Amino acid sequence: MVYVALISYTPDPERTIAAAARVSTSAVGASELVEKLTQEAVNRLIDRLISSGHLSPLEHASFTFAIEGISRVTSHQLVRHRMASYTQQSQRYVSLREFNYITPATISAKGELEAKYHQTVDDAYRLYLEMLDAGIPAEDARYVLPGAAETRLVMTMNARELIHVCSLRLCLKAQWEIVELFEKVKAEVEKVAPRLGAELKAKCYRLGYCDEAESCGIFPTAAEIAGKES
Ligand SMILES: Cc1cc2nc3c(=O)[nH]c(=O)nc-3n(C[C@H](O)[C@H](O)[C@H](O)COP(=O)(O)OP(=O)(O)OC[C@H]3O[C@@H](n4cnc5c(N)ncnc54)[C@H](O)[C@@H]3O)c2cc1C
Repeated sequence: MVYVALISYTPDPERTIAAAARVSTSAVGASELVEKLTQEAVNRLIDRLISSGHLSPLEHASFTFAIEGISRVTSHQLVRHRMASYTQQSQRYVSLREFNYITPATISAKGELEAKYHQTVDDAYRLYLEMLDAGIPAEDARYVLPGAAETRLVMTMNARELIHVCSLRLCLKAQWEIVELFEKVKAEVEKVAPRLGAELKAKCYRLGYCDEAESCGIFPTAAEIAGKES
């Protein structure tokens, strides 16, 4: 099961972003602005940054998450997002004397195939252990481990990248496990920065339509809208 904990973040992240944004048009500096800005002013400034696309001040607030219980399939998708920092448990340096793995619900739902799935993963893990016992280094023995293998990592992302990644990965066209991961990331951000947390949403909620070839049903596609109007 995906586990996400926010382990550290920029203190007062929304005020930090707002103060940075105001510096460009203010006669006073950010240290003074940070003291003076009301929460209403902070919210207003963040609204304006996002609606106008002036997103660089959002880079001044960063969030660091402990992430556990995701598959290597999903961590591979995650680290494609380049404007972030990651540190992942190594399968080179850690010999896995205990092996946890993810079973997708679609597989659990098919009794006979589920049994074969577990059997295959167990066999792969048994071979892994046999190879370790034969002196093969973990970095080589791991080649037999499946993408289902659980992993843990630490991820640091700034608010601008969080908004971008959530726009892609909270879309229901993304795979269920990474959707679940970013739902939990959003919930963690909302606890400490509700205004920013509200901006962590699938792209269709910002666009007002679905820009994928086929919609999940929440919003119609642009083509469906054009079809209705003509
Ligand atoms: C539903 C879904 C399906 C996918 N399927 C595939 C697939 O089949 N195969 C595959 O290979 N990938 C796939 N991907 C991954 C996808 O192609 C991107 O690599 C990934 O989503 C990272 O997104 P990004 O490039 O927008 O942003 P990030 O890496 O998160 O970067 C953020 C933004 O920074 C800017 N940026 C970052 N790096 C550069 C750069 N070098 N030059 C210029 N601008 C930059 C861009 O504006 C970018 O949008 C999929 C992603 C999704 C969400």
